[in-house]
Amino acid sequence: MKSISILGATGSIGTQAFEVVRAHPEHFRITSFSFGTNIELGAKLVEEFKPQRVSVSSKDLADELKRTIRHSCIVYYGEEGLLEVATDPESDLLINAVMGSVGLAPTLAAIDEKKTIALANKETLVTAGHIVMDRAKRNQVEILPVDSEHSAIYQCLNGENQSEMSKMILTASGGSFRDKSRQDLEGVTVEEALNHPNWSMGSKITIDSATMMNKGLEVIEAHWFFGTPYEDIEVVLHRESIIHSMVEFVDGSIIAHLGTPDMKVPIQYALTHPDRLEVPSGKRLNLVDIGTLHFKKMDLQRFPCLAYAFEAGKAGGTMPTVLNAANEAAVGAFLKGQISFLEIESFIEKSLNDFEIMRNPSLEDIHEVDARVRQYVQSLIV
Ligand code: NDP
Ligand code: MG
Repeated sequence: MKSISILGATGSIGTQAFEVVRAHPEHFRITSFSFGTNIELGAKLVEEFKPQRVSVSSKDLADELKRTIRHSCIVYYGEEGLLEVATDPESDLLINAVMGSVGLAPTLAAIDEKKTIALANKETLVTAGHIVMDRAKRNQVEILPVDSEHSAIYQCLNGENQSEMSKMILTASGGSFRDKSRQDLEGVTVEEALNHPNWSMGSKITIDSATMMNKGLEVIEAHWFFGTPYEDIEVVLHRESIIHSMVEFVDGSIIAHLGTPDMKVPIQYALTHPDRLEVPSGKRLNLVDIGTLHFKKMDLQRFPCLAYAFEAGKAGGTMPTVLNAANEAAVGAFLKGQISFLEIESFIEKSLNDFEIMRNPSLEDIHEVDARVRQYVQSLIV
């Protein structure tokens, strides 16, 4: 029986993690979780999973939750609350599925407590990959990927000698606007951008998929997860999202991971690794039904965010922090209807041009740069 805590319980990954736990009550139990503001769903989850600790985003919401629930548990709030859940003494494994760089501090706190981490929160690795991976190594803490591409690569490398890998190939579905030209993107709406063809996900990552920044963040995430140089990471457009990623070895062999587009599979694998269990949805991939798979070279003119991510990753230092903070701020503004879709890209580009690189940043430097970039993006909004 594995005891689990979850950050971001009411989100797309969080709710699917609960589906996995529900399907295997003999294997998993939930000891604590956090969510932001969705009291209605959060309260239902408290009654069903009966955690000992819960955290919400503010004191008012904590008071409201206490009035709503019958189950007795400790209710925390704010960033302190995220840390309480991340370091829950009852849990063996933390699923970090909160959205954005707010996930960094709890990841580090969980590492210090030697908890295994199932990491969905890619922003953590993008903004401070060197600090997270170094601390995990020193504490001998295992960080397992939840992101489908990274879970795929992880599985392709099972039993292999990683030094014989010649290339890592991440697949990208192309997002909601993959068939549109750049001209077509003028004036697209939030609703159109949120309509992803293959995956149902939280709003920020769905917009990231439409701008291709999601793949950019994943390139940096892959660099930190597997220690792979950026020159050896390739991105290929694969509209069906059936091959979740691939590894090419020195002898030319390519090992790919295939499956239906279902996040419960990589979530569950991060919980059961190195073992496997039946997947809750029971859906199987039928290649005969699929018939044909398509692959296309990525067009970096069409998707400049992918180019920005490669550049920021290769530059290193604080540039990935600038990239991530600018993207979070710009996507937040787009979702609120304050800026256009194409302004997301231009605000990120401006931020990367206007912020100077700082080498080997400390955690304090990262927090400071993150805050300054967000202010800067705010100042660009007219
Ligand atoms: P969602 O927006 O669906 O969920 C985010 C969760 O985090 C919610 O529970 C939300 O609470 C909570 N939350 C958001 N902001 C804060 C905050 N400031 N403080 C505390 N809690 C907060 O996101 P997803 O589940 O889609 O994504 C989560 C992470 O997983 C992201 O990093 C994403 O890139 C990654 N990921 C997601 C995939 C997917 O399929 N969805 C696939 C691969 C990676 P509430 O809603 O109650 O306010
Ligand atoms: Mg992914």
